[in-house]
Amino acid sequence: MTGRTIIVGGGPAGAAAACLLARAGRPVLLIERDAGPQHKICGEFVSVEARAGLAALGIDIARLGASPVDAVRLIHGRDAARSRLPFRGFGLSRRAMDEALLRKAAQLGATVMRGTAVRGVTPTGGGLAIETAGLGRIDADTLFLATGKHELRGVRRAPGHEPDGLIGFKMHFALCPAQRTALEGHVEIVLYEDGYAGLQMVEAGAANLCLLVRRDRFARAGGRWEDFLAGLRRECPHLDRRLEGAVALLEKPLSIARSPYGFVHRPGAADPPGLFRLGDQVGVIQPFAGDGMAIALHSARLAAETHLAGRPALEFHRRVRRDIGGRIRLASLLYAAGRTGRGRAVLVRASRLWPCALRLTAAGTRLPRSAWEA
Ligand SMILES: Cc1cc2nc3c(=O)[nH]c(=O)nc-3n(C[C@H](O)[C@H](O)[C@H](O)COP(=O)(O)OP(=O)(O)OC[C@H]3O[C@@H](n4cnc5c(N)ncnc54)[C@H](O)[C@@H]3O)c2cc1C
Repeated sequence: MTGRTIIVGGGPAGAAAACLLARAGRPVLLIERDAGPQHKICGEFVSVEARAGLAALGIDIARLGASPVDAVRLIHGRDAARSRLPFRGFGLSRRAMDEALLRKAAQLGATVMRGTAVRGVTPTGGGLAIETAGLGRIDADTLFLATGKHELRGVRRAPGHEPDGLIGFKMHFALCPAQRTALEGHVEIVLYEDGYAGLQMVEAGAANLCLLVRRDRFARAGGRWEDFLAGLRRECPHLDRRLEGAVALLEKPLSIARSPYGFVHRPGAADPPGLFRLGDQVGVIQPFAGDGMAIALHSARLAAETHLAGRPALEFHRRVRRDIGGRIRLASLLYAAGRTGRGRAVLVRASRLWPCALRLTAAGTRLPRSAWEA
């Protein structure tokens, strides 16, 4: 089987690229290993830039039931700061969002192959050989690599990035009515020893709790989600109140480990010429920034435009690094500042005294408007 442009991965980056190439009349094959809709680990905060990127593809997240978010609460122990966001964000499950994107890609004419995993990629003379589980080898001139955190043999990200030993968890809850009312319209970021949690409403009345914790702390809590969450609720009275009487909506939490937060791809002459890295393959921002999906959509758009214009992948990689590098570094610095108890207390107190600091932080970790509009 031969194919000229292949996209591997059907998350926001891969699916958006498929939409854009198909809309431009290019034949494109997207290969996604999950056979059907899946919950994915994510805070599920859709920033203004991500929403704009989705709208440009013809996806109206309000129609998918997304829950509006106008304010942020930063919480540490019994201390809390609240500020309006400088934009309206939304909460929408990745299951709903990714599905809408893949449906759109197929409607626009992309061939979407689900339930097939790619095992590895080998650069050949002028192109790339893609080895699949089930379809055999597919030769392509151009590969859009959009496998998120997952590395692919032959085209792994540069080694040496410190993953910081963080584990991520996500669970959906039905909150009791009073807590649901208190949460609506807000994204809440709870800081605690060795990690942080984000809580917000998504569609259909569900609340998403997504948190990060250092691996050693999780191990100290016995390595079980239930015990860890019980300990966290004792440490964080705010979270305890929110989860009082809540019912878990997923059979078990989703988890993720070894994500290289802070990674930005450094383009070089050794990169295979037909390889475009999208989304988390090109840069991984700390989750609290809530902008990973915007980066995924932005990189998809830039890659598609570069490819359609017949320009080299190196040009795309340099441009995307310029657009996202500073934001990713700032988010990593803020994460580092919150790693000590004193740092966390200062962050919340400063945000309470100057709510504009929280707004500036929210604005500072986003893709610059100029990049988005260019
Ligand atoms: C804990 C946590 C919370 C986050 N919270 C937010 C948030 O609130 N807001 C926000 O904007 N961002 C958030 N992010 C970041 C965001 O989730 C990512 O930046 C975004 O999902 C990247 O999109 P992607 O398309 O690059 O990768 P992904 O969404 O990971 O998609 C990759 C796709 O590739 C498929 N795939 C992988 N390997 C193969 C293979 N070998 N063959 C075929 N298919 C394959 C996978 O099944 C998947 O569908 C969070 C991240 C984490 C870890």
